[in-house]
Amino acid sequence: MSSNLQTPIDYLKGVGPNRADLLRSELGIHTYQDLINLFPNRYLDRTKYYKISELQRNSSEVQIIGKITGFKEVAQKRGKRLVAKFQDDTGSMDLVWFRGQKWIRESIKTNTEYVIFGKVNWFNGVFNMPHPELELLSSHEKNLRSSMQAVYPSTEKLSNKGITNRVLTKIMQSLFLETKGRFVETLPENLISELKLLPKSDALFNVHFPKNQELLARAEFRLKFEELFYIQLQLILKNLIHKSKIKGFPFESVGDYFNTFYKTHLPFDLTNAQKRVLKEIRQDLGSNAQMNRLLQGDVGSGKTIVAFMSMLMALDNGFQACLMAPTEILSVQHYNGLLELCNKLNISIKILTGSSNTSERRKIHESLENGDLQILIGTHALLEDKVKFKNLGLAIIDEQHRFGVAQRSKLWKKNTSPPHILVMTATPIPRTLAMSLYGDLDISIIDELPPGRQVIKTVHRYDKNRLKVMRFMRDEIEKGRQIYIVYPLIQESAALDYKDLMDGYESIVREFPQPKYQISIVHGKMKPQDKEYEMQRFVRGETQIMVATTVIEVGVNVPNASVMIIESAERFGLSQLHQLRGRVGRGAEQSYCILMTGHKLSQDSKTRLETMTRTSDGFEIAEVDLRLRGPGDLMGTQQSGILNLKIANIVKDKDILQSARFYAKRILNNDPSLSLSEHQVILNTYRQLSKYKNIWNYIS
Ligand code: ADP
Ligand code: MG
Repeated sequence: MSSNLQTPIDYLKGVGPNRADLLRSELGIHTYQDLINLFPNRYLDRTKYYKISELQRNSSEVQIIGKITGFKEVAQKRGKRLVAKFQDDTGSMDLVWFRGQKWIRESIKTNTEYVIFGKVNWFNGVFNMPHPELELLSSHEKNLRSSMQAVYPSTEKLSNKGITNRVLTKIMQSLFLETKGRFVETLPENLISELKLLPKSDALFNVHFPKNQELLARAEFRLKFEELFYIQLQLILKNLIHKSKIKGFPFESVGDYFNTFYKTHLPFDLTNAQKRVLKEIRQDLGSNAQMNRLLQGDVGSGKTIVAFMSMLMALDNGFQACLMAPTEILSVQHYNGLLELCNKLNISIKILTGSSNTSERRKIHESLENGDLQILIGTHALLEDKVKFKNLGLAIIDEQHRFGVAQRSKLWKKNTSPPHILVMTATPIPRTLAMSLYGDLDISIIDELPPGRQVIKTVHRYDKNRLKVMRFMRDEIEKGRQIYIVYPLIQESAALDYKDLMDGYESIVREFPQPKYQISIVHGKMKPQDKEYEMQRFVRGETQIMVATTVIEVGVNVPNASVMIIESAERFGLSQLHQLRGRVGRGAEQSYCILMTGHKLSQDSKTRLETMTRTSDGFEIAEVDLRLRGPGDLMGTQQSGILNLKIANIVKDKDILQSARFYAKRILNNDPSLSLSEHQVILNTYRQLSKYKNIWNYIS
């Protein structure tokens, strides 16, 4: 190949130092390679010529052939506008200029055929096109042009500095001229022919200068496939390397702790899904490889017991285990829940959080290092350097989406040899996203709720129906039930949100007066011990109503609570609403979730509320969430390469993703080291990508 794609963009004809600076700062384009990967946002279809009679009020950009028959000037508030009458054989419309009028009048030939192109508006009963692109039909026919015109991403600064789409297109043309449009193939021959993919050079040409719709579609497919293929390849490779290179601690036996617990202390029958997942975990732990597993299960599906029984496997083999949760409340709840079970089994267990005092800490550090302490529960505090284990065999992370990938790997470093890792998440992640985000993990799914759970009746109520809601609350309390009322707390407007919360609390106190009613309140500004005190009152059933912010979102388990009221529900995201709803329906009683909102709702809010009232399937809700928000906003995706996708879209292209993963897997199954000659191209591309692209950074 003649030109190296790593050549700095400054060297390209038509670029120069100023433009190069702008391309770097505004679009992140440093090299030829970056430029070739600047993919268009959309295309203007210039294959079709419209008749004026065909125009619609909501037409986008259109192209029309016709003649200008005359001009007039129209005075307006400031200055004047120039209006031309434009006709074809089906009707007439206006062309309008607010600037450059003199030049237009002088250069336009009337009664001569032009091709005009631009966006059409409807104004005062006539169609008009402001500042159209104009070209004489005679030269239009002569010009070699791509009929589908690429529209590149741009920024205000770029267009202000004169780097318009036209200029970008020119620069792109010059890149194709200089490289003669020949680019190194990056996928293996057999894959290209099996999938009937366009070769790399053709794909790149047609994505920038499409000859027609069909070639454009094939070009896009090929490039999306390639992008997703290499991400999947990387993830699968990482997983394979893991399994072969990183030795885990083999937990050879299932011993006394596990068996005793299973036979005498297990408080219920495990669901089939729980059994299946435990088997998967046991297989991992028994192998020589280090486990790196994601456990997905909807709220209330019973992940905790699976976690606990996995820890027992570690203990049975003489290892320690830890469980890390995102909040203090949740850690405490886990601790309290497991404490009882541990006491029965004579297992030492401790909790470590930000509010553990110095002497507690010292004791914990000591007993961890000498091995007396078998199970440690806690928050981020577990990640502190001072926390050292004698022999940590299994680390469990609850609610992974709250932790970053970096933290996952920090846990690893707690030992000379990494412990087995089990990541649990209650926010179901759509399969496609899980594949990319956690493609290096093995995935287990608990897709079955414990028996006897009732569907939580979910309704949407407007603020003005509050009296009825209050009456309903009173009836439920009468029956001995407990109620959550949750207020949104969004960081930026925290002060306002606290006011809402306190106002709400006061009105509840007025409506439900002491001593008949007792009310708890929990929010993030309270001291941990006060929070804990209030929580415990509610857990023990001493208070009937818990007014809270989303601190209770995760994990809190009060089976007697049967009503969840969510205030300003329109301000919550879908996964949050789903999580909150999961706080009720944990007992035998019929439970309810009431979504309170004001009257004005955006389209997205309506969709969210409709979804919540329609379904309780966490995976379905996650799909809708992903569609509404895109992957960028999903928790935990921030550090992932998904955001850096150049052409593929994780939501829209999930079929391509699945296929890319399938072929990446197939290739690595046959040739894990990519040493076959036909796979050289993959190896080379892969090395090249790892070298130059930051997309790979997230995979530590
Ligand atoms: P999550 O998956 O949301 O963490 P938990 O582990 O907190 O769910 O379990 C929710 C509730 O269901 C707990 O009260 C737990 O004791 C109970 N539970 C778990 N598994 C079963 C089962 N197989 N049968 C009956 N109840 C179960
Ligand atoms: Mg849980």
